[in-house]
Amino acid sequence: MAASSASHVAVIGAGIVGLAAALEIQRAGHRVVLIEPDEPGGRQSASYGNGCWLNPGAIMPISLPGLWRKVPGFLLDPTGPFVIRWRDLPRLAGWLLDFVLAGRNWQLVEACARTRFQLCKDAVGEHIALADEAGVPELIRREGLMYVYLDRSEFLAERVWRMRREFGVAFSEVGEAELRSMQPELGERYRFGARLDGGAYVVDPGAYCRALAELALRRGAERVTARATGFDFADGRLRAVLTEAGPVACDKAVIAAGIGSGELARQAGDRVPLISERGYNVVIPEPGFDIPCGLMPSDGLMGVVATRQGLRLAGQVELADVGAPPDWRRTEILLGFARQMFPKLKIDESRLDRWMGHRPSTPDGLPCIGVSSGSADVFHCFGHSHTGLIQAPSSGRLVAALVAGAAPPFDLAPFSAGRFR
Ligand SMILES: Cc1cc2nc3c(=O)[nH]c(=O)nc-3n(C[C@H](O)[C@H](O)[C@H](O)COP(=O)(O)OP(=O)(O)OC[C@H]3O[C@@H](n4cnc5c(N)ncnc54)[C@H](O)[C@@H]3O)c2cc1C
Repeated sequence: MAASSASHVAVIGAGIVGLAAALEIQRAGHRVVLIEPDEPGGRQSASYGNGCWLNPGAIMPISLPGLWRKVPGFLLDPTGPFVIRWRDLPRLAGWLLDFVLAGRNWQLVEACARTRFQLCKDAVGEHIALADEAGVPELIRREGLMYVYLDRSEFLAERVWRMRREFGVAFSEVGEAELRSMQPELGERYRFGARLDGGAYVVDPGAYCRALAELALRRGAERVTARATGFDFADGRLRAVLTEAGPVACDKAVIAAGIGSGELARQAGDRVPLISERGYNVVIPEPGFDIPCGLMPSDGLMGVVATRQGLRLAGQVELADVGAPPDWRRTEILLGFARQMFPKLKIDESRLDRWMGHRPSTPDGLPCIGVSSGSADVFHCFGHSHTGLIQAPSSGRLVAALVAGAAPPFDLAPFSAGRFR
């Protein structure tokens, strides 16, 4: 229904976050123009190449107490799951310090986890509804997600499971016999599983984004295929988003451009420490067996999912400049863990598809969602780091409430860009 006070809202960026926001803003009766230089959910976006996990228990930030002890290893061990490129260290040092400080004690981590839980607790159902509306229900599989451990003591040592239990996130323990019968190909080194029963995964995240973009267009969104470069303000009010193809007239704008958001946020009055935690995936077509649900090995820390293109292994954190060339050795590390996980895995090197992309990351593990400091007409919705796929629908709902001038369902102070001042 078109509200009489309908606004014309530019959504900048058509990854999963911008698309979820655009659909919510339309639902509230506003006109939307999507500004995106590339294909929605195309290879340029994190939303294309992620680990596919829709994890309702994605509550933990990455920075945890004691992390500072591991920083030298991040610099010295190029084969670990988290590496920092030396030559980029001077530029990244400030962010890294804030990152370590954000997780310096458990009170901070638990507060962050509670806030993150708000963004992911209802998200699996919200994704299922979105995929239904877009006519692609088959892209979301509800078989659950399972962490596999070398033994139960590893699982017991992880504080996150205690918190998941406290928050009411459903999970079940899977003993060795059950694990073997569920996944006979799994290497014998893994002897215990913890299964998130309400978890789900997307079998083709790029196609999912394309379907959401088509839904927004069917509902009347316009599409401008260009990069946004800034804003045209008059007396603090927005007149247009400036793009490489000329100004796009609008009266409100949402910055949802993933790693491209930092510069736009700066032009809207906010300096947000946003860097790329670069991540990798490699897809193995016809691996020789199926997997019963999404998996994550405790040693490899990578998402393993049966996608439409094959077995996707996604993970690794590499702190390096956005424009630095990919280091494909990181996909070899993923493949090494996969061989360890599945000794019978069939890998045809000539058919592997390798990808590198940018997790848009703030130091404290929370996105920026809120009104900008420079104008009441520009809103932030970016910085979702490792968990933007699961957090997209709730982020879209929050920013749509702000655009409509409605009260958000919970306190948005932890997401404010002003927290970095
Ligand atoms: C290896 C890896 C594994 C991951 N696994 C998971 C997972 O299993 N589950 C999960 O929940 N999350 C996961 N994530 C995180 C998740 O993918 C991201 O948080 C999420 O995709 C971010 O979405 P986005 O829309 O903000 O950014 P993007 O998907 O990067 O989209 C941003 C879009 O903005 C466009 N853009 C950029 N600059 C401009 C501009 N100036 N003007 C207009 N458009 C612009 C880009 O072209 C792009 O299309 C993973 C990420 C990686 C890298």
